Amino acid sequence: MQLSERVQKLTPSSTLAITAKANELKASGQPVIGLAAGEPDFNTPDNIIQAAFRAVEEGKTKYTPAGGLPKLKQAIQGKLERDGLNYDVSEIMVASGAKHALYNLFQSILDEGDEVIIPIPYWVSYPEQVKLAGGKPVYVGTDESTAFKVTPDKLNSVMTDKTKALILNTPSNPTGSLYTKEELKAVADWAVRHNIVVVSDEIYETLVYDGEHISIASLGEAIKALTVIINGVSKSHSMTGWRIGYAAGDRQLIKAMTDLSSHSTSNPTTPSQWAAIEAYDGDQTFLQEMNATFKSRLETIYPLLMEIPGIECIKPQGAFYLYPNVKETVKLCGLDSADAFVEKLLEESLVAVVPGSSFGSPDNIRMSYATDLDSMTEAISRIKKFVTDRM
Ligand code: PLP
Repeated sequence: MQLSERVQKLTPSSTLAITAKANELKASGQPVIGLAAGEPDFNTPDNIIQAAFRAVEEGKTKYTPAGGLPKLKQAIQGKLERDGLNYDVSEIMVASGAKHALYNLFQSILDEGDEVIIPIPYWVSYPEQVKLAGGKPVYVGTDESTAFKVTPDKLNSVMTDKTKALILNTPSNPTGSLYTKEELKAVADWAVRHNIVVVSDEIYETLVYDGEHISIASLGEAIKALTVIINGVSKSHSMTGWRIGYAAGDRQLIKAMTDLSSHSTSNPTTPSQWAAIEAYDGDQTFLQEMNATFKSRLETIYPLLMEIPGIECIKPQGAFYLYPNVKETVKLCGLDSADAFVEKLLEESLVAVVPGSSFGSPDNIRMSYATDLDSMTEAISRIKKFVTDRM
């Protein structure tokens, strides 16, 4: 079968290869520790599950409007308002996950050849979604020296007259970096000056351990008009499989994104929408509990990680990933790349991590701490032994 050029241009994620190999080893009975997960290791809170049960029992199992139940949009509006952000319900659309909201967004703003600035390291789906919409990903490098954050100077170095949008992900997957208000203000001024759309992916907003999450859209009317907030319940309420995300932004854009859904996915799953209403309107204590657990894991494992020879790692301020630079460690092991390090680590020490090459920075590896502390400490001690045995 001749496939379209569009899908042929997709880059398969190297994460999949490592996950497949880890699963293979696990299936053969090997005690593999997986640190590749991109989802919280918590159950969805019971009040949310009960809300979904109730919805199904009450027959709320039919189509809803493509852009989501009015009651859910109101719940999202209320959540945004609690955060000091005022949006009309016509400026909010519900999607089948944040990923779907992003997909519709790029399809709705990009024409052939339009450029989107993507800071490296990036979440794997950004470049692929931009390409699928006919856009061109333009990368801007960041590293540990600036805690992986971009500045107007860096943005100017890659901006052209085709630049349409910038993707900002704070707190970040994979680095755990968090932009401060001042840093966001500088980016906001730049975006307003050059009329650039800011795609503000805030999916990890509730998982901040040091500092405060600030939405760039809160920094004034001019930047709010250019910003599209992307968020959802996947990470905040441990609801990755329920597939509910949303976009908030310009009314016309939100309508276009909703029209796209109406011809592709129709509405996000109806019982999941009722569950998400409970997530936003119900008891929020779960958020603090999960946050406290991740924070205490981070405090325990970060110092252990730093004991591994050659490791350089900024202390993450949010999300649930560590993103160490292993360039020196790889050398000490006599290996020639972090990709090789990841492969050997899995084969010989049975620890699965994600190579930084998946995120555009091949000297790093990503380790998720969305796993229990015992597994995490055992994994780090295996990595340390793997390295010291080779030195
Ligand atoms: N944005 C980032 C940065 C993510 O890490 C993820 C999930 O891994 C998503 C968006 C997608 O979230 P959802 O599960 O709501 O589609």
